[in-house]
Amino acid sequence: MALDRFGRNINYLRISLTDRCNLRCVYCMPEDMTFRPRAELLQDDEIIRLVGLFAGLGFHKFRLTGGEPTIRANVVNIVKEIAATPGVEKIAMTTNGLLLDRLAQPLADAGMHRVNISIDTLDPLKFKKLTRWGEVEDVWRGIRAAQATGLEIKLNAVVVRNYNDREDVVDLARLTLYQPWQVRFIEMMPFGDVADFQLAGVVTQDELQQTIEASLGALMPVNQGELDGEASLYQLENAPGRVGFISSVSHPFCASCNRARLTADGRLRLCLLREKEVDLMTPMRAGATDNELHAIMKQGIWWKPWGHGLAQDVIPLNRVMSEIGG
Ligand code: SAM
Repeated sequence: MALDRFGRNINYLRISLTDRCNLRCVYCMPEDMTFRPRAELLQDDEIIRLVGLFAGLGFHKFRLTGGEPTIRANVVNIVKEIAATPGVEKIAMTTNGLLLDRLAQPLADAGMHRVNISIDTLDPLKFKKLTRWGEVEDVWRGIRAAQATGLEIKLNAVVVRNYNDREDVVDLARLTLYQPWQVRFIEMMPFGDVADFQLAGVVTQDELQQTIEASLGALMPVNQGELDGEASLYQLENAPGRVGFISSVSHPFCASCNRARLTADGRLRLCLLREKEVDLMTPMRAGATDNELHAIMKQGIWWKPWGHGLAQDVIPLNRVMSEIGG
């Protein structure tokens, strides 16, 4: 078991498979983003080794993210290897869905359990404006492919004021009346070069709830309002699906945080919104033994920050979201 000094059991690792992406969402990275040379990113065998070491510390849930995880060469094989690692119970992926039409089945066959697909609006023009390069129809194709495999599906929408904060939110929430999906609205968080835009455009959970309820009726708390992971869940009357809110800004959930992140360049990041990181790649490439790496990981986890400092205007400037792995 990997405990931090506040007694939290850290057992969930989110791995950024690559800092690259086939979209340029306005809230995620600048359009002219430059990426790291591939040699500076973790190689397949290094990822698999680290997953084994984390599993040895009691981590049992792993999420592949990025950048865009589906553009990583060998992603199916990476999933297969992670699924075969003793101690691994759940593998999920966060993806923009563009490549799922051909990858959903191989990923499911390789042992993936769940996919979180990002779709910020159903409107093709607004989708293009938000993602700069994307076609919403391609995401739908990916969603349908994932559904056909039986993978558990959650949809993620980041809400940005004056982009998708009104009828888009209602249209997305309405999907839960027809599908057993969780549609989750994510409050925008500030990072690096994009922080000013993000801070100006954040839309809080309370406002989103009001917008949805004004059109679709009451949102009733599920599980007496308990968090499901990082999301507070609600349900529209008679809906098979759920509406979730991930409200790191207005309702932080740091007290129950059980996660750590592995960046594409092999740093252990203990809080998404704090710059502190622990370098695992350099010692690994210098020949560190499993015991030595375990010691570095445990020490890093022990010092996991209590929580983010957004309320005190502490904003992480050293990376944007795609490099950390959202
Ligand atoms: N490319 C994949 C995707 O689009 O889902 C995975 C990586 S992306 C960084 C992971 C999630 O982070 C997505 O749901 C994305 O919308 C969200 N995200 C990106 N920037 C964000 C920000 N500034 N605040 C909140 N969520 C953000």
